[in-house]
Amino acid sequence: MLNQSSIPSITIIGAGPAGLMAAEVIASAGFSVSVFDAMPSVGRKFLLAGVGGMNITHSEPHAQLLSRYFNAESDLQPYIDQFTSKDLREWIHRLGVETFVGTSGRVFPKEMKAAPLLRAWLYKLRSMDVKIFTRHEWQGWNESGELTFIRTNTDKQSDIISIKTDVCVLALGGASWPQLGSNGVWVNYLQEKNISIAPLVPSNCGFNVNWSEKFKTEFAGEPINTIQLSCLDSQSAMHSIRSEAMVAAFGIEGTGVYALSSFLRQQIIQQGKAELIIDLLPDYSLEKIKSLLSKDRQKNSMSNFLRKQLNLSPVKIALLRELTEKNVWSDINLLTKTIKNLKINSFSYRPIEEAISSAGGIDFDELDVHLMLKKLPGVFCAGEMLNWEAPTGGYLLTACFATGRAAGLGVVEYLR
Ligand SMILES: Cc1cc2nc3c(=O)[nH]c(=O)nc-3n(C[C@H](O)[C@H](O)[C@H](O)COP(=O)(O)OP(=O)(O)OC[C@H]3O[C@@H](n4cnc5c(N)ncnc54)[C@H](O)[C@@H]3O)c2cc1C
Repeated sequence: MLNQSSIPSITIIGAGPAGLMAAEVIASAGFSVSVFDAMPSVGRKFLLAGVGGMNITHSEPHAQLLSRYFNAESDLQPYIDQFTSKDLREWIHRLGVETFVGTSGRVFPKEMKAAPLLRAWLYKLRSMDVKIFTRHEWQGWNESGELTFIRTNTDKQSDIISIKTDVCVLALGGASWPQLGSNGVWVNYLQEKNISIAPLVPSNCGFNVNWSEKFKTEFAGEPINTIQLSCLDSQSAMHSIRSEAMVAAFGIEGTGVYALSSFLRQQIIQQGKAELIIDLLPDYSLEKIKSLLSKDRQKNSMSNFLRKQLNLSPVKIALLRELTEKNVWSDINLLTKTIKNLKINSFSYRPIEEAISSAGGIDFDELDVHLMLKKLPGVFCAGEMLNWEAPTGGYLLTACFATGRAAGLGVVEYLR
């Protein structure tokens, strides 16, 4: 075993948004910081998030934004109160990156990419003398309480090093998209220290649906626009969102499905089955649909009639056919109700590897107000590895930045 001679006093493990934010805060307070990451380069998931447009936060009122964190709202509130979406935007602007608010209230960097932001941020961190060590995979603690890492060089040769540190911040992410570095293996190291961790499960994920061969061949990849999606939570309260979904060969995914994924996943865990309810025409009342469908169909096929009278798209008509019995099509009352209340059953969710984020993680009861583990003084935690989840819409990154900042401030206070 090789003992590193220059021992960094403060170690951050995980160079995603949470870890880098902790590094910035600690370095700003005048401390020397070393950041370690398992991957050959930093911020890989952050960069991937930028490929789809990089929705970095949301401009809605603060209280509404906080409500997006479901059961973890009160756990996260102190940190997001201290670093609001407005503060986050100002921080981005100070890096020289402009942002704008999209029509839905979502906030994006002007260039819709993460790379320029990450580049400017890394430049700033290096100018603050933050040292970044890539290809260092954390393996837990050795018997002497030192952090151990597998260090791999560019020729793929590796050795094990141990690092003695006064304080460390763990910002190791969740377990989705493990090829980008966050693979959830850290759960084992913390459970060995008796830290309570809710199992990491997929969030913002797709759901399997047993489509017919015909339907999936014709419609996989097809968006279903302007619909209302609803489902029940575990207390039987209905949650609805006006959004969109996407037919996939495996089932259904897309923004609206992701937004309800927490409730759908809970239904599957508790009852073995989830029911997603879709209103195919949220802008039409039952009466309006019924009256339009009561008109003379003349020689039109029912599909043609639905298209002409209700402006239903081919995918919506096919979905209706796929999910209803034949008798529904000959009964105007039943057909009207079904258009407003189409039920899709799923018995399983997609694997965590495919999900945008993960739910589960370190229980907040294990942490003090500064996000330090009560059982491991000097070890702080931040980001997606904490037990919270949120829909897409910039809420994930908002909480990662805010908790990264809070952990950094916690370290500074601890050292003082
Ligand atoms: C396709 C996709 C699109 C997304 N789009 C958005 C979006 O538009 N808006 C939004 O808010 N969020 C989005 N997200 C989610 C967001 O990117 C994450 O929530 C966020 O990156 C989590 O930040 P983090 O710092 O907690 O963890 P991560 O970004 O996952 O970083 C953790 C770091 O820890 C390192 N690490 C893990 N284990 C070890 C170890 N044992 N040793 C050393 N290093 C380790 C990893 O290599 C990684 O660099 C998206 C995610 C995906 C997958």
